[in-house]
Amino acid sequence: MRSYDDQNIFAKILRGEIPNDTVLDTEHTLAFRDIQPQAPVHVLVIPKGAYVDFAQFSAEASDAEVLDYMRAIAEVCRLEGVEEEGFRAISNAGRNGVQEVPHLHVHIIGGRPLGRMLQPAS
Ligand code: 5GP
Repeated sequence: MRSYDDQNIFAKILRGEIPNDTVLDTEHTLAFRDIQPQAPVHVLVIPKGAYVDFAQFSAEASDAEVLDYMRAIAEVCRLEGVEEEGFRAISNAGRNGVQEVPHLHVHIIGGRPLGRMLQPAS
């Protein structure tokens, strides 16, 4: 299991050291707009706990954290108005997943047609 680096940028956002454009703030979850949006809607949903990626969170988080996180994702989709037209939920992990920030985040992306999920490998 990868160890958690508490100097990552999302840990700093959670500590209030770096500002963010908050969409939703719940007991265990924070959702905020991506600083470099890839579509009209691009929100990052992160747990407040120290989890590196989706696998670690799913394995180790408490029931309350998991429930809060999943419900927060649903609420972000509702707030951003992407439920009807559709969206993509992406969580990159590790080197092969090209994860830039080592604190679990799900990208909620929508507001335009997104094309196919992956390009064929070159
Ligand atoms: P990853 O590649 O790890 O899945 O995605 C990391 C995301 O975090 C990128 O989409 C990037 O634009 C976003 N990001 C990086 N630094 C910041 C920041 O300081 N604030 C916000 N709101 N987003 C950030």
